[in-house]
Amino acid sequence: MVTFNLMITAEVKCGNCGEVTEKESYVMLGELVPIPKSRGQANLVQKCKFCGREGTITMIPKSGRYLTGDDCEAGKFVRLMSFDCRGLEPVDYSFGGDQWKIITTAGTVFENVDLSDGDWADYDEKKKMPTSVGNLQARFE
Ligand SMILES: [Zn+2]
Repeated sequence: MVTFNLMITAEVKCGNCGEVTEKESYVMLGELVPIPKSRGQANLVQKCKFCGREGTITMIPKSGRYLTGDDCEAGKFVRLMSFDCRGLEPVDYSFGGDQWKIITTAGTVFENVDLSDGDWADYDEKKKMPTSVGNLQARFE
């Protein structure tokens, strides 16, 4: 089972002109910033460097679920989280940050796992077996 601390790292595309940020943006569930000229808040408020249009991304808590071993065996994509995107569109997800939590079928918990390479391996003491995650893929829909 793979779960995360509710942070995403992604490139962001402007909904107005289509410009994609060169730098990846971070969106964290616990981090809200005020939206200028509004009473609202969002997890990310970003102005397009090209056209100047401002957009926001807001995470919708509890809108997803964990990725399980069965999902992996079935080759299924699982929704980890939903986002309310206004004028910004996340395009290229990366598994960055030491934020992942992996629970093995034996119940061993590995915290703060870095999956930025898409691969991870360790030893499950409870099960007395090596355990690993590999070939991780993600997409925005
Ligand atoms: Zn733009």
